[in-house]
Amino acid sequence: MSTSEGWRIPAVEALRVTEATRVADLNTNGTPGFDGDKALGARLLEQRGAVLSGLQEMLFAGARTTDEHRSVLLILQGMDTAGKGGVVRHVIGHVDPQGVDHASFGVPTPEEKRHHYLWRIRRELPRKGQLGVFDRSHYEDILVVRVHDLVPRTEWETRYDEINAFEHDLVESGTTVVKVAMFVSLDEQKSRLAERLDRPDKYWKYHPSDVTERGYWPKYQEAYQAMLDRTSTEHAPWFVIPSDRKWFSRLAVTELLIDALERLDLSWPPADFDIEAEKLRLARS
Ligand code: ADP
Repeated sequence: MSTSEGWRIPAVEALRVTEATRVADLNTNGTPGFDGDKALGARLLEQRGAVLSGLQEMLFAGARTTDEHRSVLLILQGMDTAGKGGVVRHVIGHVDPQGVDHASFGVPTPEEKRHHYLWRIRRELPRKGQLGVFDRSHYEDILVVRVHDLVPRTEWETRYDEINAFEHDLVESGTTVVKVAMFVSLDEQKSRLAERLDRPDKYWKYHPSDVTERGYWPKYQEAYQAMLDRTSTEHAPWFVIPSDRKWFSRLAVTELLIDALERLDLSWPPADFDIEAEKLRLARS
């Protein structure tokens, strides 16, 4: 387990969901396990981002020389403005784009609606050697769907077990699943939405429905609680990230990904040619 500068408790320990986790009581402004301030957080993000980039390159390189499927899938869930997009830009942004399989999941298209809810998810799973990133995911099918009863309760109730089984298969087939639930307070969301209304460069991110959804906050909290209680498993546990401080959530996700990649015990693939002979050939060329 990696403990890096500034962390009193490794992120994987400090942020992993427990039976005592209560969504309604979370301190969304906290920095569990981390003792540093914003300045240290920003410096570490750069430093650890470079480590993440190196590990991801090793995963990518290794995939070229083996038939074994290995990949990592980061699943990002959170209410609007929680900072999922910021994680993609500032954490995944450290990684070579050719090694990233990114997908976002909005309201299902008419075609997607004709299929099982996991259909569109399966199509976007990371390829061998890739770092997959889901901005929203199959969890919408037990979050927004549950809050608004978009399908009958009897149907969404079955999905918790179905999702656990789906992720179990995924892990068995070589994908490490890192599930991150980002939480902001209702007040912090209000100020982030207000900023979107104040800045022409942010209007495009604003949807009037975001304000409507604020009225369902307690129902969303209940749905998130059920998600954490019922889909955090040994093979694919949830990590809970207080996200009022963007610098913290970005650093935290960086640490979780580094940990996941380190556990793969990666190494650079050996040369499949005679190094000395090639040096000679090159010198003579
Ligand atoms: P964002 O708001 O993250 O920028 P979009 O506006 O494209 O992205 O889509 C997000 C919206 O899609 C959210 O309101 C989310 O609840 C909704 N959504 C995602 N998946 C589903 C689903 N399976 N059923 C209904 N709505 C969904």
